[in-house]
Parts: sequence; C-alpha cells; structure tokens
Amino acid sequence: MDILHENITALRGIGQKRAELFRTLGLYQVKDLLTYYPRAYEDRTVFKKILELRDGETVCIRARAVSSVRENRIRKNMTVTTLKVSDGTAYLELVWFNNRFIKNMIALDKEYIFYGKVTLSGKRQMHTPLFELPGANKLTGNIVPVYGLCAGLTSKIVSETVAQALEQTAEFLPDPLPDWILKHYQLCSKSYAIRNIHFPKDDEALRIARRRLAFEELLVFQSALLYLRGNRLKHNSTPLPETDCVSDFIATLPFPLTGAQSRVIGEICEDLKRDVPMSRLVQGDVGCGKTMIAACAMYICYQNGQASAMMAPTEILATQHYESLTELFAPFGIEVRLITGSMTAKQRREVTEEIESGKVKIIVGTHALISEKTILGNPALIITDEQHRFGVAQRKSLEEKGTHPHTLVMTATPIPRTLALILYGDLDVSIIDELPPGRKKIDTFVLGEDMRQRINAFIQKETDAGRQVYIVCPAVEPSETPGIKDVTTHTEELKKLFGSDNVSMIHGKMKPQEKDEIMGRFKNGDIKILVATSVIEVGVNVPNASVMVIENAARFGLSQLHQLRGRVGRGSDKAYCILFPGENTPPDNPRMATMKQYSDGFQIAEADLKLRGPGEFFGPRQSGLFCFRIANIFCDADILAETTACSKKLLDSDPELKQAENQAISDAILSLFDTNITFS
Ligand code: ADP
Ligand code: MG
Repeated sequence: MDILHENITALRGIGQKRAELFRTLGLYQVKDLLTYYPRAYEDRTVFKKILELRDGETVCIRARAVSSVRENRIRKNMTVTTLKVSDGTAYLELVWFNNRFIKNMIALDKEYIFYGKVTLSGKRQMHTPLFELPGANKLTGNIVPVYGLCAGLTSKIVSETVAQALEQTAEFLPDPLPDWILKHYQLCSKSYAIRNIHFPKDDEALRIARRRLAFEELLVFQSALLYLRGNRLKHNSTPLPETDCVSDFIATLPFPLTGAQSRVIGEICEDLKRDVPMSRLVQGDVGCGKTMIAACAMYICYQNGQASAMMAPTEILATQHYESLTELFAPFGIEVRLITGSMTAKQRREVTEEIESGKVKIIVGTHALISEKTILGNPALIITDEQHRFGVAQRKSLEEKGTHPHTLVMTATPIPRTLALILYGDLDVSIIDELPPGRKKIDTFVLGEDMRQRINAFIQKETDAGRQVYIVCPAVEPSETPGIKDVTTHTEELKKLFGSDNVSMIHGKMKPQEKDEIMGRFKNGDIKILVATSVIEVGVNVPNASVMVIENAARFGLSQLHQLRGRVGRGSDKAYCILFPGENTPPDNPRMATMKQYSDGFQIAEADLKLRGPGEFFGPRQSGLFCFRIANIFCDADILAETTACSKKLLDSDPELKQAENQAISDAILSLFDTNITFS
C-alpha cells in the first residue's frame, strides 16, 4: 500500500476535523506533510552557564532549584510563578505566567534543563522556560522546527503529525534523482534530506538536507525550461518574412527610437523571419518604451497577414494598450480590439465575429484572452506584458491559442542579467538599457507633516500650469489603524482644497467600467488630481502627470515605490516624487533613503535585497516563476550554477527524459507546469 498518497486521516490522531484544518494549510495527503517545510528553526542545542548569559538570547541552562516555587497573584486572572535557580556560576530567576502546574512539577534541589528567553535588563530572568530532566532530550538538546500554523493547529500537533508521516514513509521514500547526479554533486539521499529538514540532527545535517532539496527543486525547474525550449524549437511556426515594413511604421512616430529600442526590434525581426517560434523576453526599466517594441512586432505580424494578441495583467493597462495601439495604427487603417472579463456576451460575440472573419487581426486584453471561450483567430504572435504578474501556466495557455506562435514577453522586474538568463532559461533575453532622451531625473523628497502646506501649494502651482498629479494612499476606506490615509477620506479633503471637479479617485474595488471612465478622464486632463491605491502601479502611462505623492510611503515595498514613481516623468516636463513616510517613521528610514538616492531599477532592486534579505523580494504577489518552496535564487547562487550545468547534461544525454532513471524528474516537471504538455 502506498502510504504517501493516502489521505492524512490515515495517520494516528487525525480525524475529519483535524484533517479539515490541515487542508486549510494546503495539506491533503501524507506526502504533502513531508514537503511542508519548516518556516524556521529553534536551536535548543546551545547550553550556557548562567554567568555567561546575554540579554535577549534564548538558550538552555542546566541548573538546580534553590528556592521553592513561589506563586503571586498580581491581579485577577494573573498569577506569576517564580523560581530561583543556580548552576554554581550565578543565580537566575525563572518566571511563568498563569501556570498552576509548575509548583507540582519542580522539586527543590533537583537539577533540570531549562530553555527560554533571557532578560538581564532590570531583573535577571528567564521567561516561561520549557524544562525537563537532564538526559530526557525531548524538549531540549535538539533543533526544533517552526511550522506555519493556522487557528486550531498548534505547533505541537503539526510537528507530531509530520514526525508520524516521516516514521511511516522516510525509509522507502523514492529518490527522484539518478545515482550519477547524487554522486557527482555529493548530495545526500532523499529520505535523509526530508528527515533532516524537519528534525535536523545538528546544524550540519540541516545544511546538507537543505542543499539537497534546493538542488532538486532548481534542477527540476531548469530542466523544465530547457525541455520547453527544446520542445518549441522542434515545432514550426509561421515565419513572418516581411520585416522591413516596420520602418514605415517607425517613420510615423513622433520621436526617433532609442538605440536600445532599435537594437531589440532588430533582434525580434531576425526571430520572426525564422520558422522556429520566437521565445523572447524583453526586460527594461519602467518608462524605457517597451510598448513600442510590442507595437512594432504586431505591425510586422499584421503586414504579413497574420493575427497577434497581447495580454496585460489589469483592465486599466489593457485598456491603455488598446488606446495607444488604436492611435498608432490609425494612419494605416489597422483595427484593434479589446477583450476583457467585463464585456457583455453581445460585445464578445461581435468581436469574435470580426476576428473569425479576419477583419480584426490585432487583439489586446486581460487574462480573459486565455479563457476557453475566447477565440483569437490562430495568432502567429503572442505578447505578454508585465509577465511577472502571470504564472508560467498562464503564459503557456495563451501560447496554446495559436499553433506554436512566436512569443514575446515583457517585464520591468529588475533582475541581474545572469539571473534572468537562468530564470527565463526557456527564453532569449533582450535588455533595454536606455531611457528615451530628455527624461530628467525625477526629484524625490522625503517629507514630514510640517511640509504639508507647502506641498499643497506646490500641487496647486503644478495643476495651474496644466500638469497633473497622482496621490497614492495605502487603503481604500478608513481603517482601525490610526494614521493610515485612505483614498475615500483623502479625496474628500482634497476636493475641499482644490475644487471637487478637479479631484477624483480610483481603486481596485471599483467596477472595471468605472475605472476605465476615471482613467479616461485623467488622461484627457479633465481630472487634475487622481487619488489612487496602488492599482496604478503597473504600466499606467499619462505623460502629462508630473507629480507623484505617496502617503504612508513606509508601508510600501521598494519595488512598488519604484513602480509608482515610474508613473511620472514620462513626458518632457520635470517630474517630482513626494514621499510622506507616515507617522512614527524615522526620517532616516533606509527605504526612503534608497528612493532618494537611486533612480535606476537595478540599483533599487539590489538595495532592496540588502535591506530585506533575499527571498522576500519577489513577494507572493510576484510569485509565478520565482515561487520556490525551499531554494532561494539569491542565496543559492552556488547551487544554481551547479544545477545549470547539471540540467544541460541531463537533457543532452536524454532529451525526452525517457530513460527509466529520469522518470521521476520528468514527472516532477509535468506537475510543475500542471498543464497538458506532453512528452512526445
Ligand atoms: P514601459 O517600458 O514602462 O512599458 P512605455 O512603453 O509605457 O514604457 O513608454 C513610456 C513613455 O515613453 C510613453 O509615453 C511612450 O510614448 C514614450 N516613448 C517610448 N519610446 C520613446 C522614444 N524612443 N522617445 C521618446 N519617447 C518614447
Ligand atoms: Mg509597460
């Protein structure tokens, strides 16, 4: 019987109720528990003498009770239990709260191991220590996993359940990695790794276990990308040989392309001519002009008689692309259509007919594009904008709308080129490392409340001069937390100051049509001041906006602040970014300082990593491609180098992953994509 795939109710002590709680953590089968890796560890192996203790540390001491247990009721519902202990070097007071059992459990003059947090400022104490007799080694003397929990599931229940799952399975856990990989890269076995990632024998065992699991995860990921790439190259796409026409299109633009834009378009033209599908990532900082690259590619596609589709992550952005493409293509009489989730059935039908009849060949939309119902007329070119907002599976679904179409993905996520090459291993990478000329540095100020009046006067001055202003708040409605500005209240305040016709708000809780209408009025200048949540963070382009004010700026992450700031300075006017960090933020807040110091996305990303520590950088929102369970692309650079080489070797020797020893890896790749890719 394969216990791994059984429901966790097969384990002792797990009834329906508890199983339900485990399900909220995403744990269904016994095997899920094995990969429910700890969030952190408590090291209870460190022993110290009382005399050597430092303030704030959490350690074990071995000491004798030298007083009897004392109980003090300090108020109703609060009893404090204290005990004086000594290990011969010094005395220490142990403290528990509302624990009536201590007095029956600890005997005078007897020796125990105590584990807890030490405070030395004020009284020398250890708070709510765990304890056991020397030699017991149950609560102390080990490294203890800390799991993510949910209401109703204690740490004790989770770790006991994991321990049980391990007991029953770890011995015959199959190892997905072939022997030669284990040997060559000196990796421990799967069962050793799984056992020690949960209950490590010591530091070294934990390191070895982590390395093995991170290696496996990165290897599967990179092999999957390599496989995909190989698979793509095997198929024929529709070649788009006529690419010179793009110069006619470029000639109609009001500005010359930047050198970087021209270079990337050249690279794309070379790709499109060929009969293997293009797979290209265009990476460039906010404002570098990626939309124009997409427009050129779509124009070429059109002139070759083929359809193309572009997907954007929000309605606002899709609408904006639709509008700018409509305008750009108007001189050529090329029609563009928009497809979003909020369209009526009738509208959708009309667009579908136009696409099917071949009248419309250029389509822009949200992920409504990948809905099964949506017909895109077998596009020869597929573009994904702000690709970090989409998962690999979504990108694949869009690709499957055509027959091996050329694909172009665009992103502003600043990651170093070396990493980009690895994380987008299935794509060729083009980098736009140049901003359009005439862009001036966006002056950034970090201000306190005392400057509020002056900023209001400044906003008045800018809007009087015909320019526009964004004001971003972290919340939509008033919240419990004092000091948090919300869009709703702040809009009312600003209307009083600047006139109600001039101020409007936009946020994610609005209906799409409402958002479109507001964005439209902001674009054509009817609205002068737009109060917004971070819905405007991605891609929004209103060149006439010159001021970005961010309220409670300390509540935003650095990459988000950078994206928000990128909404201004898109025209020729001088632009400003005003950060009000919010109450209780010291003026030297390092994120604010970083925003002041740097304007380049790569530098900000690097500073972000240093400030936050890697791993948090691609928060859950940006997951998709970078969502590893255990590997950390920034800390595991050494492993990444090894898996890069290893995945190449693996696929060189067995391109279809058909050999028996590679079966498990091939299965892991399939479940990674969780779509209907088949290994031919
Ligand atoms: P992003 O790379 O962030 O998607 P966009 O494509 O939205 O940037 O372009 C930002 C702004 O720069 C737009 O207003 C666009 O018209 C303008 N732009 C693009 N290319 C050039 C260029 N070569 N010269 C001047 N302005 C440009
Ligand atoms: Mg863009």
